[in-house]
Amino acid sequence: MEILKADSAGFCFGVKRAVDAVYENIESKDKLYTFGPIIHNDEVVKDLESKGVTILSTPEELVSAKDGTVIIRSHGVSKEIIDLLEENNIDYIDMTCPFVKRIHNTVYKESEDKNIIIIGNPVHPEVVGIMGWSRGKAFAVEKEEDVSKIPFPKDQQICVVSQTTFNYNKFQELVEILQKNSYYIYIVNTICDATRKRQSEAKEIASKVDAMIVIGDKKSSNSKKLYEICGGVCEKTQFIQSLHELNDSLLQGASQIGITAGASTPNNIIEEVQNYVRINF
Ligand code: SF4
Repeated sequence: MEILKADSAGFCFGVKRAVDAVYENIESKDKLYTFGPIIHNDEVVKDLESKGVTILSTPEELVSAKDGTVIIRSHGVSKEIIDLLEENNIDYIDMTCPFVKRIHNTVYKESEDKNIIIIGNPVHPEVVGIMGWSRGKAFAVEKEEDVSKIPFPKDQQICVVSQTTFNYNKFQELVEILQKNSYYIYIVNTICDATRKRQSEAKEIASKVDAMIVIGDKKSSNSKKLYEICGGVCEKTQFIQSLHELNDSLLQGASQIGITAGASTPNNIIEEVQNYVRINF
């Protein structure tokens, strides 16, 4: 049996940078907070909590964190949250991924004279953060049905950006639908290359193997998308959070097994799965 593991499996640059920043600051800061879980991965979040890192969830909790340092995760936050931190003199380290920061800057600048459409999941924290840089002029479009709900007049120009982890083909489809609906759009493709590479590598591997394993947290949207993509070309695709969820029966008799993982999956979990598969099949 041969294992084809995707080179792009696991932490992307932005997530690694944010997670490393938390671990690096645990010793030196009196009290360390993250605004929301640092990544969509329960194992990592539990480990950080056991080391004294506290997760803040609301702006009210954020304002009360004057005794420590708050780390902003790679998803980024709205302008309102940054203003709140500044106005209340709260010490913070902004680990917004530079690719997401670029979207904030684009949206802030373009919303001066344009409306904004964000192609992405409206409740995803990255999209919520991007919305918060649009001067209240953004609308999220995740699927075709959402296009009819766009509140902007067709004679006003619209700047279109994307959630970094959105599926590239779906983004293109939605852009075409917007064009067909006569929206006057200016497109800034902000899909992250890391996501695109991970998605195309996953598809390539999944189309060759007999069984495919996608490792990621069930709350991670990029992991769910990988599962969707792999499942489209390999019937025996399974989505697991960690080794104990692995369904052995889907791997029986396979001569090639593929492995990939979402951007928030730590290396040790990927290695554990890979070693188990190597030893047992
Ligand atoms: S997927 Fe890309 S944009 Fe998102 S955190 Fe990772 S490197 Fe940054």
